[in-house]
Amino acid sequence: MPEKWILLQYQSLPLQAKAVMSQNRIREWYDHWHGDVCISFSGGKDSTVLAHLVHDLYPHVPLVFANTGLEYPEIQEFARKMGAEFVRPKMSFSQVISTYGYPIISKENAEAIYYARRIRNSVGGGTRKHAENGSNCNPQTLGNQRFQNNRGGGTTSNVPPETPRVDGRKTRKDWHDWRRESIAGVGAFQPGTTSIFNKHKWLPLCQETQFKISHMCCSIMKKGPMKIYQRKHHLYPYLGTLTEESKLREQAWIRHGCNAFDGTVKTSQPMSFWKEQDVLRYIYEEGLEIASVYGDIVSVDDENFAYSPLPGLATNLKCTGCQRTGCVFCGFGAHLEKGETRFQRLAKTHPKQYEYCMGGGQWVDNPDYDPVAPKMDGEWQNWNPKKIWVPSKEGLGMKKVFDDCNEIYGKDFIRYD
Ligand code: SF4
Repeated sequence: MPEKWILLQYQSLPLQAKAVMSQNRIREWYDHWHGDVCISFSGGKDSTVLAHLVHDLYPHVPLVFANTGLEYPEIQEFARKMGAEFVRPKMSFSQVISTYGYPIISKENAEAIYYARRIRNSVGGGTRKHAENGSNCNPQTLGNQRFQNNRGGGTTSNVPPETPRVDGRKTRKDWHDWRRESIAGVGAFQPGTTSIFNKHKWLPLCQETQFKISHMCCSIMKKGPMKIYQRKHHLYPYLGTLTEESKLREQAWIRHGCNAFDGTVKTSQPMSFWKEQDVLRYIYEEGLEIASVYGDIVSVDDENFAYSPLPGLATNLKCTGCQRTGCVFCGFGAHLEKGETRFQRLAKTHPKQYEYCMGGGQWVDNPDYDPVAPKMDGEWQNWNPKKIWVPSKEGLGMKKVFDDCNEIYGKDFIRYD
């Protein structure tokens, strides 16, 4: 099984060696599935490099683009120009937010909040069920209880929450408990230690805000339509994802490596060990065309002075336009941005889209409101607002969402104007 130190070693290889290794992974995947493969193409710079690496070996492999309607118009145009086949989601972004919640902070944290809030609303009345089962929802004791179970019951410890089948937690409620523990700050595996999945910082966001938060958006807007396409055509996809982008991706790599032949979802991520700088250098050195929204690739020095990159010289590269081109309204990672943020840039470059994103919003009855649920469950405050904030026809209402976040975490937590 791959290990973290192997990943670190791969990440430190020179670019040429990485390209050779990636093409080896691409060949393995292609041979394993007898050429029944496709490229999941986002129109971004990573998947542009991926398409180049794959087409260098197998020029006929199709590109598939999930057109969520949330991409920059320039990205859609570029995907069309590259000859990608377009697939579309069944729900709009606004419907996804109203039904599941806003994608903010990060996928991992949004997922934890989503499930931690749902305990009370579990099928059959979560709170009552907990009491009947003798389960204790008190965040002060949940962690200890699990630790004792692990010692006595022989269940596997040190198992991240993304791998439900191998842990002793069998039921949905067990997994919702896990989320609540990590939000409550007691999700450590050993007494006196803090789990890397500790999400205590997000407790106020989980309990005090009146809008839904969830990780479901990507699955519905992108992965779902892709899966339908892949099943229909019996194709196994290459993805241009990098492990440096998230812990979740790093964990997935440690479990399956680049080619997840044994994964529940069978995907190849042959560039997993690349870094963003490798991607930029590869584009520059190979002279690849990228979507116009990125602008040009330049070198920057310590004082942020930009100049043309020198061939072979390891300097810090960046794009003169957008640094990232995911969905324009996505809130994931928005609190981590330095300098001009994606929303500040959007206001200048695409003012109509910006207005739609920040404007609008409305209060509606919370369909999950439970009039008999107690306010507290042990020391845990149930999330049970009567009204919730959702998008309206006029816009997504993200200004209010960001303002509420900024009220909790400081006025510059998410900068958008
Ligand atoms: S990148 Fe963000 S907005 Fe786009 S589909 Fe994924 S979660 Fe939704």
